[in-house]
Amino acid sequence: MGDSVLVTGGAGYIGSHACKALAEAGYVPVTYDSFVTGWREAVQFGPLEEGDLRDADRLDAVMARHAPVAVMHFAALSNVGEASTDPGLYWDNNLTGSLRLLQAMAAHGVRHLVFSSTCATYGEQDGVMLDETCPQRPLNAYGASKRAVEDMIANFAAMTRAGPGPDLAHVFFRYFNVAGADPGARIGEFHRPETHLIPLALDAVRGRRDRLTVFGQDYPTPDGTCVRDYVHVTDLIAAHLLGLEYLLRGGAPAAFNLGTGRGFSVREVVEAVARVTGEAVPAEDGPRRAGDCAALVSGSRRAAETLGWQPRHSTLEEMISTAWAWHQRPGYAR
Ligand code: UDP
Repeated sequence: MGDSVLVTGGAGYIGSHACKALAEAGYVPVTYDSFVTGWREAVQFGPLEEGDLRDADRLDAVMARHAPVAVMHFAALSNVGEASTDPGLYWDNNLTGSLRLLQAMAAHGVRHLVFSSTCATYGEQDGVMLDETCPQRPLNAYGASKRAVEDMIANFAAMTRAGPGPDLAHVFFRYFNVAGADPGARIGEFHRPETHLIPLALDAVRGRRDRLTVFGQDYPTPDGTCVRDYVHVTDLIAAHLLGLEYLLRGGAPAAFNLGTGRGFSVREVVEAVARVTGEAVPAEDGPRRAGDCAALVSGSRRAAETLGWQPRHSTLEEMISTAWAWHQRPGYAR
């Protein structure tokens, strides 16, 4: 039996893909999830431990039972709109939950941590291409809470370096726009409510919603709609496995952007959805959405140079076609 890796948020979109990849790599992925936003059908690749990250006793028992060699920490609330209306919820869930996790890791001597962060920690920048050296000026409570967790992890690591025990080795992955689904369509993206562009466009094609609204047409971009850098969840998770191996080899703490370095506008995405599905996307123009930056494109050289990571599945066509297969599977969005 392989080493256990505790996957917080293992029942969510990205966490469940991590569990699959970990199991394929010979690890035992232990899902720790509260099911506030996760779903049970996604837990297919290893043991499940139900619980809230803020529940210190529960975390303690889970750490004692599984003795994980590392933690991949995905569990978080991540709806930017909700974060703006209820920031306290985000600070409590994301920050307190992460604090309890770090305390449990310290108590059980678990010293490898892969943390799921976000390009939302950068906020609005002058340039379009964001690399890891850009200042972090998050615009909303979601980005701010993720940035605060990065700081907290770095601080815990500094304390462990100064102390008698082993260091807390860690990497942060700052995601750009994650899209697509597992090629076998066993797991995929599913949020309640759904707020993301590609699943919403697919829902509009399937008639699950009347139409897609394109948020803003007057941005300073080539066609006036927002530009984002989309990365396939399979590629994103491949980076997490490389990050885990890097830590287990003794790699130094680092933050890595995960994106392709190529941006697509909302209109380009909508056109690609029409091409892949063979159906027109019912869409209308609407006003800007509060908090959206005009363009966010990743400079990802560091992940390539340090981890040897290259996106291999992140064409719009592959992201949309795998998401489309997932949307069409029986039982989707029960
Ligand atoms: N978007 C849109 N209509 C929607 C949802 C999203 O026009 O119904 C746009 C949004 O303004 C952004 C891009 O699509 O420019 C990607 O948004 P998403 O919510 O998928 O990801 P985000 O960039 O917010 O992380």
